[in-house]
Amino acid sequence: MRPIVLSALLLGSTLVGCTEASLEEDGGADLAGQDDKGDAVPGIEVQARLEPGTVDTTLTTAMPRPGFVFYAAEGTKVSLEVTHAGTTTGLDTLLKVYGPRLADGSYPKTLATDEDAGYGKLSKISDLAISIPGFYLVEVTNGATATPTASAKARLKLSCTGTCKTDAPVNPLGLDVRWYQRAAERHALSLQSYGAATAKVAAKVAAGVPASWGVIMDIDETTLNNSAYQHARSDLGTGYSPASWTAWVNQKAATPIDGALAFTKKVKQLGGKVVFVTNRMAGTECPQTEANLASTGFTYDQILCRPQGAPSDKTPRFDQVKQGMEVVAFVGDNILDFPALTQDLRKQPESAYAAFGETFFIIPNPMYGSFEKNVD
Ligand SMILES: [Mg+2]
Repeated sequence: MRPIVLSALLLGSTLVGCTEASLEEDGGADLAGQDDKGDAVPGIEVQARLEPGTVDTTLTTAMPRPGFVFYAAEGTKVSLEVTHAGTTTGLDTLLKVYGPRLADGSYPKTLATDEDAGYGKLSKISDLAISIPGFYLVEVTNGATATPTASAKARLKLSCTGTCKTDAPVNPLGLDVRWYQRAAERHALSLQSYGAATAKVAAKVAAGVPASWGVIMDIDETTLNNSAYQHARSDLGTGYSPASWTAWVNQKAATPIDGALAFTKKVKQLGGKVVFVTNRMAGTECPQTEANLASTGFTYDQILCRPQGAPSDKTPRFDQVKQGMEVVAFVGDNILDFPALTQDLRKQPESAYAAFGETFFIIPNPMYGSFEKNVD
């Protein structure tokens, strides 16, 4: 989501004592979701923090490059080994270690690579000497001669001579997520927006609306709160990736945004329709989203997810909804949730914002959005 500027730091060969396992020294870690790759090769999906012991993982065609973050103190010798995890035999793996992690979230240097030093065609890196304390990333993937399978289980073992435990976070939680999860102001702003929307809708209905009318609402950070996902990704020192996002959606664990539930109930009570237009994906994410909405108490008339292969632009779906009803309010957290608006609005005079508080109602979200691409 956010481009990572790879540091030009030359960490040099003083960083680690070379081991027999170091077959090559190439570039940095290619993290999933953190650049706009054109080659369609999936990046490393950071799964969890790793402490001395084992973790089981699965190499799938959808997620072929799981990664784990571990800490190592100066002078520690780190050993990593892949073994079979129960069902899979004849597994062929490749193991890579990157690091240390820089403050910008990148791992600009490959420290060690091994293909077949372990049992059979499994991988093993022994006594990798760490000279810079910090966080390191280990990637397990299929080996060069592996026959791709839909799902292969592997077990990764970390052992350390020295210190591989720390209470320190990989990444300090940013002000954006701290504000979102901990600030009274965030609750107040959401309630203020939904209160204004409720009052305006009621006034429009009292003044007269067509028989078929309703509201269009976005879902993420407008109706459902996904900050637990943002927090968890930050704790792993990484950000959004499509696969981790889909895994979060599958948990159906998002909570209602303050004021959203009461607003939808009031619209229904007044005789209007509630329509969700979201860029959650049809097919892969929409059924779980509907279950999440239902379990949190939302009732609605229609949900228009993003069709597979379709652009994120909501205009065609807005037009579709407008054919069947008069839309008296749009609610969203992203400027693109409102018809015909883009980030260009920020350069416009105050008069360009006249629809806000009348037909458009915005919910705060500093964690992500179309604003991220703005450079001024
Ligand atoms: Mg949203």
